Amino acid sequence: MPEPVVSANGSKTAQGPIAERPGPAELMAPAGAATADEKVILQVKDLRKDFVIRSGFLNTRKLPVHAVDGVSFDIHQGETLGLVGESGSGKSTTARLVLRLLPATGGTVQLDGTDITGLDGAAMRKQRVEMQAVFQDITGALNAGMTVAEIVGEPLKLHQHLSKKDRRRESAAMLDQVGLRRDYLDRYPYELSGGQKQRVGIARALVLRPKLVVLDEPVSALDVSTQSQVINLLEDLQDEIGSAYLFIAHNLFVVHHISKRIAVMYLGKIVEIGDASQVYASPRHPYTQALLSGIPHPNPARERKRQRIVLRGDVPGPSSIPGGCSFHTRCPHVMEICRTVTPPLAEMPGGGAVACHLHANGPALGGASVNSLPLPPPDATQPSSESASA
Ligand code: SF4
Repeated sequence: MPEPVVSANGSKTAQGPIAERPGPAELMAPAGAATADEKVILQVKDLRKDFVIRSGFLNTRKLPVHAVDGVSFDIHQGETLGLVGESGSGKSTTARLVLRLLPATGGTVQLDGTDITGLDGAAMRKQRVEMQAVFQDITGALNAGMTVAEIVGEPLKLHQHLSKKDRRRESAAMLDQVGLRRDYLDRYPYELSGGQKQRVGIARALVLRPKLVVLDEPVSALDVSTQSQVINLLEDLQDEIGSAYLFIAHNLFVVHHISKRIAVMYLGKIVEIGDASQVYASPRHPYTQALLSGIPHPNPARERKRQRIVLRGDVPGPSSIPGGCSFHTRCPHVMEICRTVTPPLAEMPGGGAVACHLHANGPALGGASVNSLPLPPPDATQPSSESASA
């Protein structure tokens, strides 16, 4: 069943055990400034990507893999949607489908009202002006033989045909915005630190003032203090330029800080989406709960009481996704229906949407949140000193 499009809307924050768990002070500032009235910049509907992998003797057996399976969401002007999930959840494939770096098997991607899914090369090149990307492997993304001025100015040459002098002037102004001195214009990537390279990558992505920026793990390779600098920079630039961000990361602190809304992916599907504060304070899907239970509490007394939900087993392989709810092999609340019936992503009273049979008739089990359900069996919870599995 195609999943509904869930738009940004205000949602009341229900309180639960995780609601009492604030993050570090510097990461608790309000995120994003988009409202439901702002224009939809990106609309993704029922997006799908299937691969075929080969296995068995002489690789003769073909197995279908549903890497992205009916994903739908939208992002408003100036808004950040955080996309989280474990490795193999399909978030990076979703990013590549949105950017048209991979062809979709099905579904549509609309950028500012234009369906870009089937555009040919020339038409797509025009759209790329409005859609830029920043990736985790910034060293690989920067041309080692080009100076910073050439790297930042390249989109201006390709899309706006500016002269060399004008490109250098615009690149210098962009370096000001990302906090790099102008004498960096003539440096090469090998002369820069990791954080400086990421600033150059961000300058290159934003120099055209795009409507959408896809950020795929943009701070994962940076140390903690550089991470906060880059995140703050991204927020400042978003305020100035108004771009919408699709922000992909596995670090939930970072995602919560920068995102207006959060979508949680598991095995190719969105299992929960909603206002970032609501999802963080009162997660409704058991998988989201497990992910958030792994976040340390900055207060030592509360940290000692934190109960970690340790999921059973590993994430199933992409060619052996379980039937019914694909999370049922690891879920502490699994019921018989979960093994055979796939729960749809259903909109919830108060905002957001969840794909879980516990919420099939509104709030879990007729009014309680999943947070108020009995804790999982003892083997599924461990003290906070245990290592993370999610
Ligand atoms: Fe767990 Fe069932 Fe909900 Fe899936 S549908 S998350 S198995 S309770």
